[in-house]
Amino acid sequence: MDTLECDICYLPFESQVFSCKNGHAACANCCISMHRKCPSCNEPIGDFRCRATEKILAGMTRPCRFKKHGCTETVRYTEARAHEEEACSFAPCRCPFDGCDYRGRLLYGHILDAHAPGVDAATLLRGGWLSFSVTLQKSTPFRALLHPGEKSVFLLLNGGDILTHTRPRRTRSTTTR
Ligand SMILES: [Zn+2]
Ligand SMILES: [Zn+2]
Ligand SMILES: [Zn+2]
Ligand SMILES: [Zn+2]
Repeated sequence: MDTLECDICYLPFESQVFSCKNGHAACANCCISMHRKCPSCNEPIGDFRCRATEKILAGMTRPCRFKKHGCTETVRYTEARAHEEEACSFAPCRCPFDGCDYRGRLLYGHILDAHAPGVDAATLLRGGWLSFSVTLQKSTPFRALLHPGEKSVFLLLNGGDILTHTRPRRTRSTTTR
């Protein structure tokens, strides 16, 4: 299976696969982040497309990797990452608190246990939705609001460029081809 993931970042390839003239494969993001230089042989990378690998990828499907969390979908290999990062409702949630690497479906309980006591970014709403006011400090990027009835977590963002939602997300540069 390792020919189907990028040699550099080890993420599964999406629809485009590039290589240097020596056949070292790389995804579009890595071509950009490596400044189009192959890290294995220093040859230029990004000019050749691995059509054969791309063809194989286009015909492949696999189960969503959150199968064990309850997702029953089988997705095209090339679209799996988009499904898992943006669409899958079974994706484990990433804890938004700095320095915490919890990922899971039980984010509500986790925040309550690990961050609520003594962490002023967490605001506990008791007794369902009441009208209430929340003050955002400039120094705090967000406040977590816990809704006990539905066991949901809401993030109140301060600014907007730090966190967009609580699903796992990798920063990636956009391709400009
Ligand atoms: Zn890569
Ligand atoms: Zn190379
Ligand atoms: Zn899924
Ligand atoms: Zn946490």
